[in-house]
Amino acid sequence: MTRSIVIVGAGHAGVQLAASLREEGYHERIELLSDEPHLPYQRPPLSKAFLKASDSTSLPLRAGEYFVDNQIELRLEENATRIDRGSKRVELQSGRSIDYDHLVLASGARARPFDLPGAGLDGVATLRNLFDARALRDRLTGANNIVVIGAGFIGLEIAATAAAFDKSVTIVEVASHVMGRAVSPITSRFFAKAHELFGAAIMLNTSVTALRGSKGFVTEVELSNGSRLPADLVVVGIGVLPEDRLALAAGIDCRNGIVVSSALRSSDESISAIGDCAAFPSSMLNAPIRLESVQNAVDQARCLARRLVGKSDPYAALPWFWSDQGDLKLQIAGLSHGVDQWVTRGDPETRSFGVFGFRNGKLAVVETVNRGGDHMAARKLLEGRLPLTQFEAADVDFDLRRRALSQRR
Ligand SMILES: Cc1cc2nc3c(=O)[nH]c(=O)nc-3n(C[C@H](O)[C@H](O)[C@H](O)COP(=O)(O)OP(=O)(O)OC[C@H]3O[C@@H](n4cnc5c(N)ncnc54)[C@H](O)[C@@H]3O)c2cc1C
Repeated sequence: MTRSIVIVGAGHAGVQLAASLREEGYHERIELLSDEPHLPYQRPPLSKAFLKASDSTSLPLRAGEYFVDNQIELRLEENATRIDRGSKRVELQSGRSIDYDHLVLASGARARPFDLPGAGLDGVATLRNLFDARALRDRLTGANNIVVIGAGFIGLEIAATAAAFDKSVTIVEVASHVMGRAVSPITSRFFAKAHELFGAAIMLNTSVTALRGSKGFVTEVELSNGSRLPADLVVVGIGVLPEDRLALAAGIDCRNGIVVSSALRSSDESISAIGDCAAFPSSMLNAPIRLESVQNAVDQARCLARRLVGKSDPYAALPWFWSDQGDLKLQIAGLSHGVDQWVTRGDPETRSFGVFGFRNGKLAVVETVNRGGDHMAARKLLEGRLPLTQFEAADVDFDLRRRALSQRR
C-alpha cells in the first residue's frame, strides 16, 4: 500500500479523497494542502444562498475536528509551488517541502482572465472563492446598476439574486443563447424568459469591449454595438480554466486540464488528478472531457481512493449537475454532446418540466426544471442504460420511476 499521500487542493475533490481513503481503510499518512485560509468549504452556495444571507457557518465541508480525529493533516495557507518528480517532493511557498509516495492534484479551476481595458477598476468582480463571495455580497447591497458579463450558470445565479434585491441587472452574453454550451435550446429559451421576468435585461450576441471608470471605480460598460451601460458593479462570469499550472511546469501531459486515464492516473504514474483540474476519458462519449461539478469531484475522489487501496475500477460515474436560479431548480443528468433530438415533457409555462435529449435514438441527457422526482428517475435510467422511447419521454403519464426501478437490460 502507498505509504504517504499528499493532496494538493482541499476543495470538494481533495477533502472527499482524504475522507474516502480513511473509509477504505487507508491508515498511512495523508497531507491535505490548501492555499486558502479557511476550513474547506462548499462552493455552490457562494453564488446562491450565501449571497442572500451571507451565512458562512453552513459552508464547511467537514468540521475542523473531523480532520484531527481522522489524522488528516490539513495544512491551510500552504501553496504548492513546484513538483520535483525525480525526488517525489512538493515544494511549498512557505519554504517547506513534503515528500510523497503518491501525489494527487485536486487543484480545481480558476476564473478565466478578463483582460479588457478597465478590468482592474474597483467594482469589477469575479466569483470563485469565499473571499470573492464576501466582497461581492458587500458590493451587491450598495450597487444600483449591475452588469453581469456571461450568461453561464454562475452569472445567471448571481443575476437572479441581484434581481431579487430589486437592482437594475443587465446580462451581456456574446453567444446567441444563455447557458448555450450546457443546455438544450428549449431550456435555454425558458431561462432567458425567466430572467426577464425576474427583472433582468438580457443582451445576446453582444460582447463587452471595455469598462470605463471614474476615480478608479467602474461607471460604464462599453459594448460591441457601440452603446454603453451604466454600471457600479460588474460581475465577470466568463468561465474558468483548469488549475493545471503545477502539472504543466512539471512536464505532465496537460490538454484542457491534467490528462488522466480512466484510473485517474496522470502521465506520471505516481501522480493522479481529480475534479475540475482533470481531463478524463468519458465512458459515455468515448472521448476526453473535463467537468466542473461537485458530483464529478466527489465521485472521482471516491474512485481514486479505491484504486489507491488496491481496489481498482475505472471511473464511469454518471455526470449530474444542478443550478438554482431564483425559484427555479435546474437539474441535469447525463451529457448533451452529440444529442440529435430533444423531447419536452410537460409544459414550460407551468415552470415544471423536463427536456430529454437523445443521441442516435438512445437517451443521453435529461434536463429538468423544478421536477426533482424526474431528475432522480432519469439518473437511474441513464445509469442502468434502461430503454426509453421519445414517445414515453414526452408522455407525462408515463411512469419514469417505475421504468427506472425495472430490471437492467
Ligand atoms: C460560485 C460557484 C458556484 C457553483 N455552483 C455549482 C452547482 O450549483 N453545482 C455544481 O455541481 N457545481 C457547482 N460549482 C462547481 C463546483 O463547485 C466545482 O466543480 C467543485 O468545487 C470542484 O471541486 P475541486 O475540488 O475539483 O476544486 P475546488 O473546489 O476549486 O478546490 C480546489 C482547491 O485547490 C486549491 N489550490 C489550487 N492550487 C493550489 C496549490 N498550488 N496549492 C494549494 N492549494 C491549491 C484552490 O484554492 C481550491 O481551494 C460552482 C462553483 C462556483 C465557484
